[in-house]
Amino acid sequence: MGKFGREIAGPNVDRIIEKLNKAFADEWLAYYQYWVGAKIVKGRMHPNVEEELEEHAKEELEHAEELAKLIVQLGGKPLLSPDEWFKEANCKYNKPDNPDTKAILKQNIEGEQCAIKVYKELLEYLGKEGDHVSAHEIIDILEDEVEHEEDLENLLEDIEGE
Ligand code: FE
Ligand code: FE
Ligand code: MG
Repeated sequence: MGKFGREIAGPNVDRIIEKLNKAFADEWLAYYQYWVGAKIVKGRMHPNVEEELEEHAKEELEHAEELAKLIVQLGGKPLLSPDEWFKEANCKYNKPDNPDTKAILKQNIEGEQCAIKVYKELLEYLGKEGDHVSAHEIIDILEDEVEHEEDLENLLEDIEGE
């Protein structure tokens, strides 16, 4: 992004970068939670659940990628060390202690609900700041998170209805 491109992000670009970095931390933790969940999940319908978790892991990593690009475009730096992910994340990491499909799905549904809340608030903030370029990216991510929650809820319903 050029000088004027950055300028139109508004005067609080540093605050915007900070918030984008917090979401970036959430995405890495979500990625790992899905990734490791897919490795250990067992129980009813576990092949279907494993496949969905793997797909979501891939999509969370893409979100991290998109946020990193945006941060760099705005003149910032994505968090440079994984220990900052825990410090900066908005949503907590839900360690998958219980490998049962239902337990894993419930934890990840909670994670998605947190992500939806974070992105909705971030979108409102960006709207107030007039940073429409970042807002556009965040809308795309928010759409994915809404779909993720729905996919997991549908799987959980299928398992409970079996
Ligand atoms: Fe995500
Ligand atoms: Fe998600
Ligand atoms: Mg899905």
